[in-house]
Amino acid sequence: AAGFGDCLCRSVAQIDWWMSHRLLGTAYHQVPFLIQEKDEAALNERAAKLAEHDIEANGYLYRVLTLCGLGISFTGVSNHGSMGEHQISHYIDCFAGERHPGTLHGTQVGVASLTMARLQQAMLASDKPPVVKATKIDPDDMVRRMSPAVATQCLDELKKKAFDENAAAAFNERLQELWPTLRQELKPFMVPVDEMQRLLKSTGGPISAAELGTSPDFYREAVVHCREMRNRFSFLDIAADAGMLEDFARGEA
Ligand SMILES: [Zn+2]
Repeated sequence: AAGFGDCLCRSVAQIDWWMSHRLLGTAYHQVPFLIQEKDEAALNERAAKLAEHDIEANGYLYRVLTLCGLGISFTGVSNHGSMGEHQISHYIDCFAGERHPGTLHGTQVGVASLTMARLQQAMLASDKPPVVKATKIDPDDMVRRMSPAVATQCLDELKKKAFDENAAAAFNERLQELWPTLRQELKPFMVPVDEMQRLLKSTGGPISAAELGTSPDFYREAVVHCREMRNRFSFLDIAADAGMLEDFARGEA
């Protein structure tokens, strides 16, 4: 189930990565998706059989996990399998401390992928683009949550993608111009969140923060603040800078 959770992120990672490419001009590569596409479909057809330890289902699971790793050999980066959803999982691992439920990386990624799918699909359902403001950064709060040494590292990463007022205005202009096209471009990458949830549930893995065993407050903290950890631009960043992320996170538990 954990392995499957780590594969489930493909659609949400692809949506984040393509959006970043189109709106900010960051690099994007299709190859990692091409090499695993057929195996992903074969795996999803057999997801429920993972819970029965079916050999063929596990064979496809290992192929998708291996091909996802191989994708990094083509591009030198892991973005195709690690965007907003992985940041949520990394935040849990780095900052939960005593509150960590002892869950595996892939188990957390599966739950976080559902969170990202709900966020992306809600935002993309609107024919009007979100409007961002300059990124709000609270270094003292980061120190409180992360410790001074780690907060310094994260602040460096966050500043690389943070918008000042001019950058926010330019980004809004780009959003206005590209939003209808972007919504169409992202559709083929998307898996409806209900379908993702059905697949993950069929493997026997947790599908919510409550089932993971993380407290609602800490999971919401992870959703809201994980973007501070890494200079990878995702729908979490747009939602945060548009002032929507805290409201969204209140619905996640
Ligand atoms: Zn992973």
